Amino acid sequence: MDRRDFLKAAAFATAAAAAKPLHASDGASDKPSVKNYRQIGKTGLKMSDISFGGGKLSSSSMILRAVDYGINYFDTAPDYGQSEETIGEAMGKIKRDKIIITSKFCNHFPYPGHLSLGSKKQDYVTAVEGSLSRLKTDYLDFIFVHALGEMNKDAELEKKRLLSDEMLEAVAALKKAGKVRFLGTSSHGPANMETLLAAAVASGHFDVIMPSFNFMKFPKLPDVIKEARKKGVGVIAMKTLAGAKEMNLDAKGEEFPLAAFKWVLKQQEMSGLIVTMKTVSDMELYLKASGAKFTAADQAVLDRYAGLYDKEYCRTGCDDCEASCPKGVEIASVLRYRMYFRDYGMEKRAMESYASLKTGAASCAECSEPACTGKCPHELPIKELLCDAHDAMSFSA
Ligand code: SF4
Ligand code: SF4
Repeated sequence: MDRRDFLKAAAFATAAAAAKPLHASDGASDKPSVKNYRQIGKTGLKMSDISFGGGKLSSSSMILRAVDYGINYFDTAPDYGQSEETIGEAMGKIKRDKIIITSKFCNHFPYPGHLSLGSKKQDYVTAVEGSLSRLKTDYLDFIFVHALGEMNKDAELEKKRLLSDEMLEAVAALKKAGKVRFLGTSSHGPANMETLLAAAVASGHFDVIMPSFNFMKFPKLPDVIKEARKKGVGVIAMKTLAGAKEMNLDAKGEEFPLAAFKWVLKQQEMSGLIVTMKTVSDMELYLKASGAKFTAADQAVLDRYAGLYDKEYCRTGCDDCEASCPKGVEIASVLRYRMYFRDYGMEKRAMESYASLKTGAASCAECSEPACTGKCPHELPIKELLCDAHDAMSFSA
């Protein structure tokens, strides 16, 4: 069997294994487990509906535990700290063809390390080879052009990064060498999320897209998702908790995340979702949403959350206010990093990312006539949130 035949066989083996959950409950055990696996577009792969976001990975034992519970899809990137290395530590104890790994075209720098427009074919190949070495594997199931709308506010420039000939040639070569199986792309904005993901779907080059998607409003995304479905492009949701994980809406703090996940998964077009799992308790809680039905009680929880948080949640993918600032403060990016800092417990990554911005919120505190006031259609108090973000994340504050 040559390498390509092996990878094809691995695809079918993964699909078959996923169709029969690795650790489905036998009815007598309370062991948490994935209850549902869904197709990823036309790839032939099936992923656990609740899957593993490796953005904040504490130890390789989390990966082993996730596999034990039936999670089979793992999302990582070279610029997620030591995420790839940590998954690599677990790799010797996992049957590679039972899991699906996504990494990104990024440098091994602090986030954001995405390869920029103008990168050469060899840069893309080198990025993948770095990931393979850190992950201790010889192939990636998916490689993503990462974070559309984050490097360039200009949609046309970002489209060039998305559809770069150098990148596409690298992907063709990597596929031929058996190092990559499928191509995908992700976006959490801040600029042009829907436009860029629609361009990815229309191009025919991408097997999967990964948008920010949750119960808060993303007006144009449903059309993109439907089009993806029509074309056999898988859709995996991220940022499904709308920014907040620990709202303590109920005594145990369980109802909100489960309702938010079930809302995402009730959309039939979704292949699944990824979520950062910091602890085993997180994982065991989140798996309660696997295969579960969205109910009226869940909707009531989400309505309650929206009422409390509506005026603090900066919609990822929205960039409506940014042009209003004469100083060019990157409002949406600052507020997204604030979300990582305040709500996700990812303080270090948030501070590093904030430090990498060209124009952070240093000047907001002294801004006496804030032109951004009233520019958010969701009525966020932009200046106040930006000042808080700068105080929290600035190394010199
Ligand atoms: S407070 Fe002033 S400096 Fe800060 S974003 Fe608003 S307009 Fe720009
Ligand atoms: S503050 Fe409001 S207008 Fe600005 S990016 Fe966030 S949600 Fe959009």
